Amino acid sequence: MSEDTIFGKIIRREIPADIIYEDELCLAFHDVNPTAPHHILLIPKKPIAKLADAEIDDQQLLGHMMLKVGEITRSLGIDDAFRVIVNNGSGAQQTVFHLHLHIIAGRSFQWPPG
Ligand code: AMP
Repeated sequence: MSEDTIFGKIIRREIPADIIYEDELCLAFHDVNPTAPHHILLIPKKPIAKLADAEIDDQQLLGHMMLKVGEITRSLGIDDAFRVIVNNGSGAQQTVFHLHLHIIAGRSFQWPPG
């Protein structure tokens, strides 16, 4: 489990966010500092600090979230071209230690990523 973060405050509606999807397990909202025309963050309500901290008990939750990526991108009409990124740890530029999937679309992408 992680310490409380700004994403915990968003889940509890203590600070505002532009929420586009919510269910009992996860929440999706627009990134406040978008890196593309579409930049959505999908987070579990369970405060897992980073992907490497997920455990076997989180298997269903993580699968649920991956399926929600498809549902959310279809609802936004971006399901033909998007990128999902998980920054794990400060060395990988993670700044908020509550697991989140970046869903990015609407611009050209390079490979390999930077
Ligand atoms: P990461 O660097 O992978 O930890 O990504 C954290 C992301 O959270 C960044 O893209 C930030 O722009 C975003 N972010 C931080 N605070 C907020 C907020 N209050 N509402 C929406 N997005 C946020």
